[in-house]
Amino acid sequence: MSTDIEITPLLNWINTHGKPLVIAGPCSAESEEQLLQTAREIAKIPQVQVFRSGLWKPRTRPGEFEGAGNKGLKWLRKVKKETGLKLAIEVAKPEHVEKALEHQIDIIWLGARTVVNPFSVQEIAEALKGNNIPVIVKNPINPDLKLWIGAIERVYDAGINKIAAVHRGFHYFEKSPFRNAPMWEIPIELKRIAPSLPIITDPSHICGNRELIPTISQKALDFEMDGLMIESHMNPDLALTDASQQLTPVALKTLLDNLVIREKSIDTEFYSKFEELRTEIDKLDGELLQILANRLKIIDEIGQFKKENHITILQMKRWVGILEDRMAQGTHLGLKKEFLQDLLALIHEESIQRQSDIFIGTKNRKKS
Ligand code: PEP
Ligand code: MN
Repeated sequence: MSTDIEITPLLNWINTHGKPLVIAGPCSAESEEQLLQTAREIAKIPQVQVFRSGLWKPRTRPGEFEGAGNKGLKWLRKVKKETGLKLAIEVAKPEHVEKALEHQIDIIWLGARTVVNPFSVQEIAEALKGNNIPVIVKNPINPDLKLWIGAIERVYDAGINKIAAVHRGFHYFEKSPFRNAPMWEIPIELKRIAPSLPIITDPSHICGNRELIPTISQKALDFEMDGLMIESHMNPDLALTDASQQLTPVALKTLLDNLVIREKSIDTEFYSKFEELRTEIDKLDGELLQILANRLKIIDEIGQFKKENHITILQMKRWVGILEDRMAQGTHLGLKKEFLQDLLALIHEESIQRQSDIFIGTKNRKKS
C-alpha cells in the first residue's frame, strides 16, 4: 500500500471516547422482532456504538437462509430510530450499496467472500463513487495480505477515506481450535504498512464458538487493534446463521466489562519486545537452514566416499546409534520426543535420498 494513502482517523467518523470501537449485533437480520429485541438489549451496553446485521447472506449452498434482504432495511430504520445506535450492514453487490445509501446506513462492510474477488470489489467501489460513507473491509478468506490491501485500495481510489480493516481470521488446512486461524502476524503487518488504518478484530468469525471469544477479544486489544466486531443474538442457539459464535447481549456485556484496556506505553514496550523476538527468530531460522545445508553437503561427501569404496548407503547400526544419541540430546534440551522423531526421520530421509542420487548418478547432473 502506498504510504501516501490518507485514511481519516477513526475518531473523526465515530466518537469512541478513546476506547475501542465495538460493533455488535446478529449475524443475520431474521425478523423485525428478533432485530428490535436484540438491538434494545445491545443499546443498554455503553461500550457498543454500532449495531451490525447481515441482510444478504453469502451462503455456501443454495437453499440455506439467505437473509431477510431488502425488507430488513425497514427494520433497521426502526432500530436506529428507537435506540440511536449507528448501523452497519454487509454489501456484496452495487445494488446493496444503493440500498444502504438510500436507507441511511452509517457503515458498510465488505465480506471475506467478496474481498477474494477483485471484480466484485471494483464493482462495489464504482457504486461508492461520490459518497463518503465509512467502509470497513474484511480480510479475504485466504491468508493473502496483498488481496486485502488491494480491496482497501480499490475502496480508497473510489474516493472513500473513512476506511477500516476487519480481521476475521483466515482459512487454514491444519487442525485448529478456530473456525478461521487468527494469524495475527497478518493484521500486525498491515498495521506496520498502513499505520493510520484502523483495524477491527472480529472474534466471532475467528473462533466459530462462544468459548474462545473472550480470549481472542483480549488478544486483539493487546495487539493494539482499534475495535471489535462481535455477533450477538437474543437467542443464539436458535439463530439461523452462525449460531455457535453469537453471544447473548448479557454475555456480550460481561465480556466487554471484563476486557482490560492496557496503557499504550506498555503496549509500545510490548511491541518492541515482540519485534525483537521476531528478529531473533529470523536470525535463528537463517542459521538453522545454513546448518542443514552444511550437514547435507557433508552427507554428499560421505555418499561419494561410499560409492567409491563400494559401501552400502544405509548403515543401519550407524543410523540406530545416531537416533539414540540425538533423541537423548534433544530431549535433554527440552524438545518433545515426537517432534524429534519426525525431525530426525525427515533429515535421514533426505540424506538417504541424496546419497542414492549420487549412487545412480542423478545428483548434480546438469539439465540439458
Ligand atoms: C458476517 O459478518 O456475518 C460474515 C458473513 O462474515 P465474513 O465475511 O467474515 O465471513
Ligand atoms: Mn456471521
